[in-house]
Amino acid sequence: MGAAGNTPTPSILVINAGSSSVKFALYDAAAPENRLLTGQVSGIGTGAVEADLPQETHKEVQNFGELAGDASHEAAICWVLEGLEKSGFAIMAAGHRVVHGGSAFSAACRVDASVEAEIERLIPLARLHNPHNLSAIRTVRSLWPDLPQIACFDTAFHATQPEIATTLALPGELREAGIRRYGFHGLSYQSVANSLQRFLPGGLPDRVIVAHLGNGASLCALHKGKSIATTMGFTPLDGLIMGTRPGLTDPGVIVYLLEEQGMEAGRLSHLLQKESGLLGLSGISADMRVLEASDEAAARFAVEAFCYRIVRETGSLVAALGGLDGFVFTGGIGENSARVRGRIMEGLGWLGAGVDGDANQARAGREPLAISPAGARLPVYMVRTDEEKVIAAETARLVA
Ligand code: AMP
Repeated sequence: MGAAGNTPTPSILVINAGSSSVKFALYDAAAPENRLLTGQVSGIGTGAVEADLPQETHKEVQNFGELAGDASHEAAICWVLEGLEKSGFAIMAAGHRVVHGGSAFSAACRVDASVEAEIERLIPLARLHNPHNLSAIRTVRSLWPDLPQIACFDTAFHATQPEIATTLALPGELREAGIRRYGFHGLSYQSVANSLQRFLPGGLPDRVIVAHLGNGASLCALHKGKSIATTMGFTPLDGLIMGTRPGLTDPGVIVYLLEEQGMEAGRLSHLLQKESGLLGLSGISADMRVLEASDEAAARFAVEAFCYRIVRETGSLVAALGGLDGFVFTGGIGENSARVRGRIMEGLGWLGAGVDGDANQARAGREPLAISPAGARLPVYMVRTDEEKVIAAETARLVA
């Protein structure tokens, strides 16, 4: 496998550049379900950048040099690329997670100048994400100009939603300017749908709701494996309560803050992106682990409100699907918090979910797990999401 001196395995580099981290993984180009190595740089922008490399299992990564504590996104990506190069990996293509693909991209595509320009044009719709996704693409190009690069969009999975689900009831000129619901976490929904399709003897049931519950959180209604409705909208601010985002909020609140409190746009944006959600409700933390460990009433209330919103929004998606054949938990909270899962399953009792204490305590593994009681009217599953694997598969397909 890739150490200098051996014959390197042709591989695909997957890059997921977030607001403060760069995650990367290498996959075998001939069998993109096989991950060769994975790593992460976190704390970018905090002055305390940390690299996490799997030294024990992959001796090759000892060729990586030191990474400066104040490294930028660009510096972190250069460090990854140079480290992989020195380690002798034969990288055939790079696949990137790109959060917002707007209306232009209904599938992954090869990056060229026009694709880059469109990702840049969409920055105002995903300020926390698209700039870093674009910077990763440009940094790779500057170091390895001939390497094929593939963009995989979080919005693309939702291109199957009917117009009635994506249209906002606004005047025509605004709708024509692209102001509509898009939806996000598409790579995660694709990953979960693929896993369940493989795992369940009868394949994916017709009407399924997937709850991607992490620092960002959304629900997606899948009909025969295709997205027909989702809780995020024009931006990833809509829908569920998230770590620092409020989700669904009466637009009148925004008007009130602008008109009556004279709040500036930048301040308002920070309030909605960084100060609300679980953090705003609890006044303690955006992190579910911290809230679950806290005895404070405000922490308990924040967790309850998080679950309550999910149960309510599930009702809306059940109506859009015309019924429900399965409910799925994924994401950092969905895969790890038995308490949150239990509260939501109780809330979905009217749909026949039921709670099996032991099954719900299980840890998410490589394969999907059924966590509802045997014979429950509504089967509930826990599935570990793997967005990087979806990107690797799409990249391999597009460069083949
Ligand atoms: P993600 O954005 O998918 O990485 O998920 C991050 C969220 O998952 C944070 O709120 C974490 O607190 C939460 N999380 C991770 N592990 C656990 C755990 N064992 N119990 C509860 N929440 C967890």
